[in-house]
Amino acid sequence: MGRESDFDLVVVGGGINGAGIARDAAGRGLRVLLCEQDDLASHTSSASTKLIHGGLRYLEHYEFRLVGKALVEREVLLRAAPHIIRPLRFVVPYFKGLRPAWFIRLGLFLYDHLDFGKRQLLPGSCGIRVAGHPAGAVLDGQFTRGFEYSDARVDDARLVVLNAVDAAQRGATVLTRTACTGARIDGERWVMDLADAGGGGLRQVRTRALVNATGPWVSEFLDHTLRIGARRHIRRVKGSHIVVPRLFDHDFAYLFQNPDGRVVFAIPYQGRYTLIGTTDVEWHGNPAQAAISDDEVAYLCTAVNRYFTVHIGPPDVVWSFAGVRPLVEDEKSSASAVTRDYVLEMQDNGAPLLSVFGGKITTYRKLAEDVVARLAPRLGEIGRPWTASARLPGGDIGGARFDDFLQQCAEHYPWLPAELRERLASAYGTRIARILGDARGLADLGEAIGDGLYEGELRYLVDHEWARTSEDILWRRTKLGLRALPETRTRLDAWLGAYSVPRVAIG
Ligand SMILES: Cc1cc2nc3c(=O)[nH]c(=O)nc-3n(C[C@H](O)[C@H](O)[C@H](O)COP(=O)(O)OP(=O)(O)OC[C@H]3O[C@@H](n4cnc5c(N)ncnc54)[C@H](O)[C@@H]3O)c2cc1C
Repeated sequence: MGRESDFDLVVVGGGINGAGIARDAAGRGLRVLLCEQDDLASHTSSASTKLIHGGLRYLEHYEFRLVGKALVEREVLLRAAPHIIRPLRFVVPYFKGLRPAWFIRLGLFLYDHLDFGKRQLLPGSCGIRVAGHPAGAVLDGQFTRGFEYSDARVDDARLVVLNAVDAAQRGATVLTRTACTGARIDGERWVMDLADAGGGGLRQVRTRALVNATGPWVSEFLDHTLRIGARRHIRRVKGSHIVVPRLFDHDFAYLFQNPDGRVVFAIPYQGRYTLIGTTDVEWHGNPAQAAISDDEVAYLCTAVNRYFTVHIGPPDVVWSFAGVRPLVEDEKSSASAVTRDYVLEMQDNGAPLLSVFGGKITTYRKLAEDVVARLAPRLGEIGRPWTASARLPGGDIGGARFDDFLQQCAEHYPWLPAELRERLASAYGTRIARILGDARGLADLGEAIGDGLYEGELRYLVDHEWARTSEDILWRRTKLGLRALPETRTRLDAWLGAYSVPRVAIG
């Protein structure tokens, strides 16, 4: 066993909720440790539909409070990270025989107003005629009318990483590939066992408070790791997505109603693709092993084929991913009806333990603020809430819209190929300067790994974003895995093998 270190707060789980909590707490002056058993965002938080949204369909379940809260957060997050979170306009073709037009109109009216006037960055909803609309050309001829409304899209995995980067900048210790394998109370402290799969072995840390942000593992962590028994449970609901070569070449996304009452999104993705999802299937296995089934692929293909003139089938699928929603168990029979809101549960037998049940990416910042507020009385003097008006790393693009920032990048780095420039600006925002430094041409970026990856970016990802494997880089820090050639992966593995990885000191 290594030495013990003392913290105010240890957060277990490096998904969006854990990373957000660590950032909030570190920014209030607390000594924070965040530990994640795999890579940051390895599980649910990189398998979402990638929307920062109020959740139009939750209105049907009378979730007005949740939708209102999420709509307010949508605006906050658009300002905090304009590089990785961007406005997205949705088209809803009107499908006769499903929800009546007045019902959709009422829903959209509520959606435009439930944030009590906080919406400033996004236009409101409106009715459309499909003929002549840019999104109309690919729709089947039976659709003549529809609606438009606004939401936003996010690079979910990067949102997690940026929260961890910000937490670390504010003094938090971030340990990836480090599982919490046990914890017990000693006086007024938790003593926690951490196992570092990256070669650091076992060590113990002490902390005044413990947060269980393990997402779909939340009850398991209480039952098996802490052995104190979960008083509340979650319902694990698998949701899967498919990615196909792009089905349209405009920037609108679609919300399609399904005859089973569910909705399916078709979203422009990574320039060359369309992302389609999602499904709702009860999941009883290990969340880390969730994968799409043939039935789900067929379901998603059928859902879009109902609407588009071009039809797709399983052979068109270039990538798929599945995640497990950790939903608060509320005894509802249908998985789509279970609330997407979160519940925080505090247990205090000498040292506080707060467990996070449920939640959405969209509400993570508010959740983090609520978690720290709940723990505050047990943590002594701490700073005030601060994240509502703070930017995430790279998000300080001034008053500029993202397109203007992109233009500034084009003027500053005229030698960067347009596709690479857009990718770097979108992923890193103003931190693009840290990657490009004083480079005056591609040759200054170091070894060319392939598919637009250069050594300069890799160094940044390993040194500042905890990237360790080619999968971390190709599927979470970037989405280059979608198109990377086998040679690129081989060169990337070789580069990573030769690079000396910085060790994170604890405490
Ligand atoms: C299909 C799907 C679509 C979704 N779409 C959206 C959307 O468009 N918009 C939206 O706002 N929300 C969406 N959500 C919801 C959102 O993705 C989740 O609510 C959110 O990602 C949950 O984050 P989390 O941090 O709680 O869990 P996770 O991201 O799963 O993180 C928990 C982490 O804890 C780690 N962990 C577990 N046990 C231990 C241990 N003992 N030691 C160390 N680490 C441990 C795990 O490895 C994991 O990385 C979607 C969810 C799904 C499944």
